[in-house]
Amino acid sequence: MKKMTYIALACALALTGCATTEGGSASGLSAVASALNTTGAAGSGGSKTENKVGAAMDVFKAATVSDEELKSVALQYRAYGDRTEKLAPPKNKYAQRLERLTRKHVNEDGLQLNFKVYLSKDVNANATADGSIRVYAGLMDMMNDQELLGVIGHEIGHVKHAHTMSAMRTAYMASAGRKAVAASSGTAAKLADSELGALGEKLFNSQFSQSQETESDDYGLAFMQKHKYNVKALESAFRKLASLSGKQGGLEQMLSSHPDPGSRADRMRDKTGGKK
Ligand SMILES: [Zn+2]
Repeated sequence: MKKMTYIALACALALTGCATTEGGSASGLSAVASALNTTGAAGSGGSKTENKVGAAMDVFKAATVSDEELKSVALQYRAYGDRTEKLAPPKNKYAQRLERLTRKHVNEDGLQLNFKVYLSKDVNANATADGSIRVYAGLMDMMNDQELLGVIGHEIGHVKHAHTMSAMRTAYMASAGRKAVAASSGTAAKLADSELGALGEKLFNSQFSQSQETESDDYGLAFMQKHKYNVKALESAFRKLASLSGKQGGLEQMLSSHPDPGSRADRMRDKTGGKK
């Protein structure tokens, strides 16, 4: 159960769909904007607006969670995942393969990244706002090195475009952990495992939008071009995922709410000069 909660977490599925709602923070900010309009009148408006002002301040506090605080939460959340998932030890063959593929990408595009393997048959990968990228053994079994690099590029895209930060903001704002922290200090305190587990569920219940997925697909492709990798590999990775569609329970669920991998493969094909 713990395991399920964690898998649920972060950005569930590299290619078939990662978790998060686009504009999570944007909607929070527009709430703040309208709240601030109310507070704007407060100076002269007197006590009539007092309750509104109080409510507005609550929204304001929630929406102004700093990136620093979110990164701290993401780090704790990732550490929790690494404790509850089966992390491949450094000498494990999956860990060694991933290390070989990613060693030149730990400082990619201004980001500080770390890559590890979860020894699970799930066909999955995810990223969190602290720059951690995790790849599941099930995905590694399915993909050749170039395809795996394409998936990794896609995940880096979610970090670079701050989709992971936005996802964490949305989940954290709604979490009990945030309320406890806000009540005390305003900076990220140490969250209990139960709070991190609940945060994971919130992350899972949100999803990256199709436009965020498309943006990350494009980032992945640019990543392949930049490093002179095989630009057709993302297309073939999507084709492989499309072939799995409907065969695997968990995958099917994720596919239902995300762009289908066949269309994404076609898009990658079209962007790399059509059929080859
Ligand atoms: Zn994704």
